[in-house]
Amino acid sequence: MAANLSLKQEPYEAGDVTQTSPASRIASNLEKNHFNLEKLSDEECLELSSQCGNFYAAFIQKLIGKNNNKSDSTKLPEALRLKLEKIQKAVEKHSQIQHTKLQIEPKDALGILTQAFPHTLSEFTSDEKPKINFQELSTGFYAISLPSKFFDRLYKNSGAQAVAVIVPNGISFVMLRESYGNAQAYLKHNLPHESHHIAWSHCKAENLIECDEPDPTIKKAPPPYQDELVATICSNAKIHGHLQFSGAQRAELSKEKKPQLDYIDEKVVLLYDLLNPNQSESLNDLITRTGHQTQEMLLPVLLAKNFDELLQNLQRFATILKKKAPPTEEYRSNGWGSVG
Ligand SMILES: [Zn+2]
Repeated sequence: MAANLSLKQEPYEAGDVTQTSPASRIASNLEKNHFNLEKLSDEECLELSSQCGNFYAAFIQKLIGKNNNKSDSTKLPEALRLKLEKIQKAVEKHSQIQHTKLQIEPKDALGILTQAFPHTLSEFTSDEKPKINFQELSTGFYAISLPSKFFDRLYKNSGAQAVAVIVPNGISFVMLRESYGNAQAYLKHNLPHESHHIAWSHCKAENLIECDEPDPTIKKAPPPYQDELVATICSNAKIHGHLQFSGAQRAELSKEKKPQLDYIDEKVVLLYDLLNPNQSESLNDLITRTGHQTQEMLLPVLLAKNFDELLQNLQRFATILKKKAPPTEEYRSNGWGSVG
């Protein structure tokens, strides 16, 4: 359920802002505090987060060709509207480059795959060449579905149903496992999830992903972590905490065993506990019990520029939802557990 709450009218403490209208208070607090959610009331946080989640989910749905409506950003405070519109423009720009300059047609699909997986595809003999289904889901945004055995050869030992194939200076696309192509759950979660990863890569190319993690040894870690969280959030799946970072960052940390590893471990363990879907009173549990949607958690993740902010922002929302949630016993006895 989307939060449909009116904003609190109570004034803020002296020193915060002087405006009295809720919209201008939010806008001013966002500007002054660099999107610090701490200065917003609970209702303002939920309202803003609902709008932000709706905007981004609609944007991703449009990207995958499920929705032709332009995302509505008119109700958002200016600073947040500009941030989201920059993301939208960056993705549109890169999609337009893929569509116009490169003039891609379905017959180019094998070439696109070869560009992404040159060594593996060159091993295929001509009669093994996979039957490829190529789709332009929206302008310049592509999906290529492949028979399962070819999918596994290209994306080895993954068990994944779909993957975002990101090719710097080349064609990025979502690669789908053909046999699952029509399954509802697959379309509902996997396609938006992987499409977000491509959108995020375009934002990275435009330097839109802000990170000010103070510790140089982990400064690259928050964005990939947030990338994965936003992917689950915008597809309205359960948010999963991760105990590990991906790729080089993890290897670098493990290799050196710096004291910072303890620091970041502590943060990541706290995030993991907060986000673990199997944990009672986790953020996922609270979202379900209060009738909210996962996509409404986009704002606290998107605004964070380091792990401290990410943890604080998500804890803030967990606290807000905890106040609204029915007690666990009542929730179970009323049969709300079936809400998915
Ligand atoms: Zn992912």
